[in-house]
Parts: sequence; structure tokens; C-alpha cells
Amino acid sequence: MSNEITIGVLALQGAFSEHIQLLQQAANYIDSEPNAAPRKWHIIEVRTVEQLQSCSALVLPGGESTTISLVAARSGLLEPLRDFVKVSRKPVWGTCAGLILLAESANRTKQTGQELIGGLDVRVNRNHFGRQVESFEAALDLPFLVDAGGEAFATSNKPFRSVFIRAPVVERVLAPQAGEQEEEAKLDDTVVAPSKAASSGKSIGKVEIMARLPGRAKALNDNKTTAREVGEEGDIVAVRQGNVFGTSFHPELTGDARIHVWWVKQVLQALQ
Ligand code: GLN
Repeated sequence: MSNEITIGVLALQGAFSEHIQLLQQAANYIDSEPNAAPRKWHIIEVRTVEQLQSCSALVLPGGESTTISLVAARSGLLEPLRDFVKVSRKPVWGTCAGLILLAESANRTKQTGQELIGGLDVRVNRNHFGRQVESFEAALDLPFLVDAGGEAFATSNKPFRSVFIRAPVVERVLAPQAGEQEEEAKLDDTVVAPSKAASSGKSIGKVEIMARLPGRAKALNDNKTTAREVGEEGDIVAVRQGNVFGTSFHPELTGDARIHVWWVKQVLQALQ
């Protein structure tokens, strides 16, 4: 592995500078660990295809997914982003609007404009908890953060304070076969990512549920699989499938870098 690592944050709209700061903190923390390999980090804002192509991994920030997708389309970035996620299969993490963009299917879109990148075989429900005024904070238990620098950030073993702002949830895990997406596309007010026919064909495995928000599970008004049927109770607020990770909430807004540390470590493993 080269000791130069470039991690990009899509900087078209939304909370990208907060991610840059926390990625930098995560990199500093990883460098400070005993026996850390010598590395040169480049944490960069991505606005062009050239910048995207220089990245080993990418974060899609929260913001407004419709705006991000429109600007990405206008900047000629949509297809290169799909390649990055679904063909090159580089590590990608989407928060909130970023999670929506990484879903293969999303609902409640305006008739015009919204396009998805895709990569996660899930259907998301946008604005699941309502409007901006209904934003809230919750303490999440995220066992995967055990080794993520809690001592350094004085948060070890504490629940993760998460901010939900017009947040989506994963309301359904889609079966990985292609037909599922066609079924989704027939639903009202639904947008799906373009077919995965062009993807590398490599199996990326199942969608793993990484976190749920206890007590907020809402019954869905269709008769498809609900969050409840997939496992324990609670709305699904973090998922991973192969190289793609998504969170409903905004870990970049609470100053706790543990999820960034965890994710950057995943990136390093993927690059090995
Ligand atoms: N609901 C917003 C959207 O549709 C996402 C909100 C957020 O990223 N905080 O894009």
C-alpha cells in the first residue's frame, strides 16, 4: 500500500467542511497510535471529476440530496460517482442526504430532478421523522466503535450522540437480484438508481444493519418487509454493504470523531 492516502468529501453542497475536520482528526489519531505506519494524508474537497479520480475513498455529506444530485449532474460527476461506488467499488460513506444518494431506491421525491447514485441495496424513506423543526438528538449504542479512539476523544464507552435533521431511515432491505429494482421503480413517487448492469459483477454481499434507533420504529403502510421483520425493533439508521456505508444521522455535527476513526480504519483495510 502506498503511504499516500487521499480521502475526498463531495463538496457541492451541505456539511462538507465538518467532515473534513473530523477526517483530519481521525487521521491524526490513527497516526498517533502505537506502531502506526508512516502515512501522508490528503483530505480534500471534491468538486471535479479529476479530484474524484485522485481519491481512494469518499464521503458524501448531509445537506439536500436533490440539490447535491442536480449539481453533480451539472458538473458531470454523476456517472463518475456511480463508477467510483459501483464499478471501482472504492470505500464510500454517506451521511443523511449522502445515504439517500447511495440508496438504490428512495421515495418522496419531487417529480423533477432527483437522481440517485446507488450502491446500497436498500429503500430509504426521506424525511422519515418529519420537518426541520422535528430534528432531534439521540444516544446510539454503536458496538463497532470499541476500537475507535474513545479515550482520545473522551467518549470511550459512551453512547454516540447523534443528530437527526430531516433524516431518512432505511425502511426496507432489497434483495440483491436485479428484479427488485424494477419492482421498486413501479412504485409511486419512487426514484431508483440506474441499473447495475454496468457494475463490476463482483458480489458485494448482504446489507448489514449497523445501528437502529430504538423506540422510533414506525409501522409502514405497505405490506413489504418492515424494519421489524428484518431483525430487532427500531428504525434502521446505519447500514453497510461491501464498500458502502451509510448513516441517517450527522456524526460530523457533534464533534465526536469515533465513527470517522472507525471508517478511516475500514478504508485502510480495504486499501491493503
Ligand atoms: N432530507 C434531506 C434530503 O432529502 C436530507 C437532510 C440532511 O441531510 N440533513 O436530502
